[in-house]
Amino acid sequence: MNYAEPRQVDPKLDKDDAGKWRWTVSNRRIGVWAAGYCAEDCPGHETPLEAAQHYHEYQLGNIRLSSLQDTQHPCEKCGEWTGLIASLPHGDTYTLCEPHRTKEVLAEITSPPSQIWYS
Ligand SMILES: [Zn+2]
Ligand SMILES: [Zn+2]
Repeated sequence: MNYAEPRQVDPKLDKDDAGKWRWTVSNRRIGVWAAGYCAEDCPGHETPLEAAQHYHEYQLGNIRLSSLQDTQHPCEKCGEWTGLIASLPHGDTYTLCEPHRTKEVLAEITSPPSQIWYS
């Protein structure tokens, strides 16, 4: 099981990001690692919420689009029936029609995660 959430870099470490927050994943066998944009060129954040917002940006930058085979649901933005879906990495899946299946709409209907568990 992987437990993803903002974690603080040990403030006692002699590092530039000591005491800063990053979006990280913890796995009992592997340890803890930074994930999403926090694993790239990120200096760390002052608060856990900022780290979660940074991961949310990563999710919105990596939206997965697909479609359902046999079922349709109302678009979560306009209510139009559609078989099109969009999902966030390690996040939920949303029904969105063609014109609403965008980063902007997903940014509007989702918020920064506080914690994500996945296997
Ligand atoms: Zn970050
Ligand atoms: Zn729509």
